[in-house]
Formats: sequence, C-alpha cells, structure tokens
Amino acid sequence: MFILKGIDQLTNAIAKARKLRPRVEFDRFGRYRVSGSKGYYTVICKKSDNNYKTVACTCKGAEKGLVCYHAAAALSLHIGLARQQQTA
Ligand SMILES: [Zn+2]
Repeated sequence: MFILKGIDQLTNAIAKARKLRPRVEFDRFGRYRVSGSKGYYTVICKKSDNNYKTVACTCKGAEKGLVCYHAAAALSLHIGLARQQQTA
C-alpha cells in the first residue's frame, strides 16, 4: 500500500501501464481488478481518515510499498469515476 501524494509518483507506473495495457475491471467504486502477469490483482483506492488517498494492490511489488502499474491503471479509472461523482 502507498499514499498517493501527487501524479509525479505515478509517472513510471503509468508509462508501464500504457505499454502493457492491463485489463481493468470495475468491481465497485474504489475497488478494481487489474490483470497482471500472474492473473488478476485487486486494487483498492480509498481516502483514509486524515484525508490521505491510499492505494493498495495485492501484487508483490505493492506489498513492498512500490507504485505498481496495476495501481496506476486502476487509478486512472478511479479518478475519472470520482470526477463524475463530484459533478453528478
Ligand atoms: Zn500491483
């Protein structure tokens, strides 16, 4: 799990996601399934009590606190959905 502080953090992961084009499946708002090298990973995006945005993925990289491309792929969908909710 990592705390999302800004888009800069995601630059490398987004580049990787663009290259590998993982499939992102919507589960519910804040919860997504992203295809990876060994099947699907679950990515959870949420706001913590102190208003930090946290992103958790079930892959090995994310366990070590790395920003993985699954998280980047899920976040791009999540951010789009969050915007829609705010304007709805
Ligand atoms: Zn991951």
